[in-house]
Amino acid sequence: MRSIQDDYLSRAGAGKFTTEDALALYDKPSYLFSLADKLRKKSVGDEVTYVINRNINFTNMCIGTCKFCAFKKQDGYIMSIREILEKTKAAVDINATEVCIQGGLLPDWDVSNYCEILESIKNEFPQLHIHAFSPMEVFHAAGNSNISIKETLSCLKKSGLGSMPGTAAEILADRVREEICPDKLTTHEWINVVRTAHRTGIPTTATIMYGHIETLRERIEHILTIREIQKKTGGFTEFVPLPFMPLNNMLGTGKQVSRGVEDLKLHALARVLLYPNIKNIQVSWVKLGKKLAQSALDCGVNDLGGTLMEEQISKSAGATSGEYMAPAEFERLIREIKRVPKQRDTLYRHVNGF
Ligand code: SF4
Repeated sequence: MRSIQDDYLSRAGAGKFTTEDALALYDKPSYLFSLADKLRKKSVGDEVTYVINRNINFTNMCIGTCKFCAFKKQDGYIMSIREILEKTKAAVDINATEVCIQGGLLPDWDVSNYCEILESIKNEFPQLHIHAFSPMEVFHAAGNSNISIKETLSCLKKSGLGSMPGTAAEILADRVREEICPDKLTTHEWINVVRTAHRTGIPTTATIMYGHIETLRERIEHILTIREIQKKTGGFTEFVPLPFMPLNNMLGTGKQVSRGVEDLKLHALARVLLYPNIKNIQVSWVKLGKKLAQSALDCGVNDLGGTLMEEQISKSAGATSGEYMAPAEFERLIREIKRVPKQRDTLYRHVNGF
């Protein structure tokens, strides 16, 4: 006789999980965790990956009005190209394979400013992968330059853009966006930037920012939207759940939230809903902390993200797990739960480094 779990497994295997299936499964955490763990093993085996990278947030000034933002400042900084290159050099010195570059929206910046950053880095470090600029930054650059999203992305690619963070997704539901980030690009505009990037040969990650005013159904539908894009383009490298951090912003309560089962359930749900279309589910050790990130590896997760070196965005919103995790620490956390650590590059190719 087929068990409920077998039934779930075959529906997930066919990529046919629906919102109603997910709502039902969410109330059965032990089924959910074990199904997610099985699907993780079928997708990627026992390897757990991480990347040696560095974040560079080139400005914390921004014309945006996102209510969850704790990062932007009225009297903030804008890094010069020389400063960006110095930070990039420090990343290369620790064998980083990637720099991840994002910043606030500067009112007069157009595509040439973004291209200048890329070209300056590529001139000095041609082999380094540049993972940069959220769909919101691309949208902003296109608007200020009076050119299409497609032209903007082509210019960025020509200047050395290797891939993009799929941030600014928050929750892909306009009801939520109107409430928490009314001036940000809409759901449709986010999808358009990401699909155009994939068609231009620029892979992206996919994210969700959960744990504020959204409903469970909206979280699920967000993940299913990502699955539908992936079926068409194949351009997502991974899915990264990002919990909302409640300190120093208008949307938060100002109190630290204790993290735990709810976070694990969302990671597990992502594995189940995205199987077999997205192979890599990442946990953010910066936002969840090392211990919970390690637990997430038993709930569908197979990637621990990056070493980072510098992390401003989560830290300003209350993250306390630090700004750098050394490769040896990643290896320790992974071996401790009897899995196999592998250093990867941005596109999930193995790197023989550590
Ligand atoms: S989240 Fe980004 S776009 Fe929104 S206000 Fe903050 S820096 Fe600006």
